[in-house]
Amino acid sequence: MEITINAIRAIERDWALAARANSTLLEQIARVVNGPFHLIHPPTFADNLSNFQNVLRQRGVPGNVYFGKKANKAGAWLREVSRLEGAVDVASIPEFVHALANGVRGDNIGVTGAAKSDDLLWLSVRHGALVAIDALDELERSLAIARENGPLRILLRILPPNAPNSRFGLSPQDLAAALTLCGDNRDLIVMDGFSFHLDGYAVLPRAELAALLIDKCTEAKAAGFPCRGISIGGGFACAYIEEADWLAFKEALSPDQFHAAKSFSHFYPYYQSPTGASMLDAILQTTLGNATLAEKLIAAGVELYLEPGRALLDGAGMTVFPVQGFKQNDEHGIVTVAGLSMSLSEQWKNSEFLPTPHLVQCGPERPQTPVHAVIGGSSCMEYDVLTWRKIAFPARPRHGDLLVYPNTAGYQMDKNESEFHQLPLPPKIILSRHGGETTWRIDE
Ligand SMILES: *Cc1c(COP(=O)(O)O)cnc(C)c1O
Repeated sequence: MEITINAIRAIERDWALAARANSTLLEQIARVVNGPFHLIHPPTFADNLSNFQNVLRQRGVPGNVYFGKKANKAGAWLREVSRLEGAVDVASIPEFVHALANGVRGDNIGVTGAAKSDDLLWLSVRHGALVAIDALDELERSLAIARENGPLRILLRILPPNAPNSRFGLSPQDLAAALTLCGDNRDLIVMDGFSFHLDGYAVLPRAELAALLIDKCTEAKAAGFPCRGISIGGGFACAYIEEADWLAFKEALSPDQFHAAKSFSHFYPYYQSPTGASMLDAILQTTLGNATLAEKLIAAGVELYLEPGRALLDGAGMTVFPVQGFKQNDEHGIVTVAGLSMSLSEQWKNSEFLPTPHLVQCGPERPQTPVHAVIGGSSCMEYDVLTWRKIAFPARPRHGDLLVYPNTAGYQMDKNESEFHQLPLPPKIILSRHGGETTWRIDE
C-alpha cells in the first residue's frame, strides 16, 4: 500500500537546532542519565515573558504576567520569573512553595484552581497572594481564615456568560452574594477585582469578556472596593508548525496514516495566528464600542493580569528518548523507545502530539534506506504509543540512536508523567552557554 507521509516540521528556535545537531552532547547526556530526558532553555522562556511584558508596557497598560505553572514543573522558569519581576499562577501548596523557594514573592503569586484547601488559603493570607475565589462557600472559608490571620486579597472569578457550562466561576446570583459578603467584611477581604479563564484560543471572546469585567470594576470601585485589576486567564495560542504543513496534514488526514488505522477526533491547532504576545496585543487592540480594550483599561484605571502557561514555554524545551529497538511488522516499522507515552500528555487526551520527531543517528554509519515507522513506549500496554502516525525516517532507527521530540516544554513534558513500571521520571536538563561552550546541569 502506498501512503503519503508528510513531515510535520516543527518550528524550532536556534538553541534547539544547535542542540539537536550536537549528537556528541546528546549522547553524553544520554549515557549519564541512562534513559529519556528533557532539555530546557530558560533564556527562551525569558524572551517569551519579556515579550508579553513589553506589549503591556507599549500599550501603556499597567498589569502583570502570571506564569501558569502547571504547564511545566521545572524550577528554572521560576528563576526567570523572579529576575524579570513577573508573577506565578499556582493551584497547590507544593506549587506555591516552589515559587517562593525560587524567589517569587507572595504578592506576585496568584492562586487559582477550584475549591482551594484551607491550608492553601492560609498560606495565601500569610504571603499576601492574590486568590481567585471560585465559589461562595470558598469565600466563606476564606473569611474564617482571614478572621484569624489577617486580610486576604481576592479576585472574584466569574462564570463566563459565553461558556455557561464551565464548572469554574461564580454564577450571577452567587457573584452578587459574594459582593455583599465582601462589602460586609472590608477589613478581612481586599476585593481586588474579577477574573475568568476561557477554554480555546480566540481573541474576541477574551476581549469582550474583559470589557464586561472592566464595567464590573467601575461599579465595584463606586461601591468602595479597591478593585485594582482583572485577570483574563491563560489560553494564549502557540504555533508549532507552519500553516502550509498544517493544511497539508489536515488535507491528507486518514486512518491509513496511523498505526492500527487509529483515528482521532481532535487535535490541538498546531498552526494558529496570532500567537503568544501578539495575541495579547490583538486582545488589547480589539475595538469594543468606541475604544480599544487597552484604552478602556487605562480610562477605568484597571490593571490587566494574564496567566499564560503554554505560550511562555513555547520553544523552550524538547524531549530526547533513547531508541531501544526497531522491528518491521507490516509495511511500517515500530520503533520502541526508553520512556513512556505519559510524557506526551496529548496521548492522555486521546489525541497526538503531531510535530515530527527527529532521529539522531548514533554509532557507525548505516545505509540511508528510508523507512516508515510509528513509535511505542517501553511499557507492556498496547496503548503506550508516543506517535501513532507513521513517520518517514531517512534510515532504519536502531538501538543506541536518539529520538528528539521538538517543543515539548508546554504540557508535553511532565504534566502527566508517572513512574509506571517503577521507571524513574525523566530528568530535566538545563542547557546554557559558558565561555563559548554549551554546558548542562540537572534542574532541581
Ligand atoms: C491552565 C490554566 C492557565 C494556563 O493555561 P494555558 O493554556 O497554558 O495558557 C491559566 N489560568 C488558569 C486558571 C488555568 O487553569
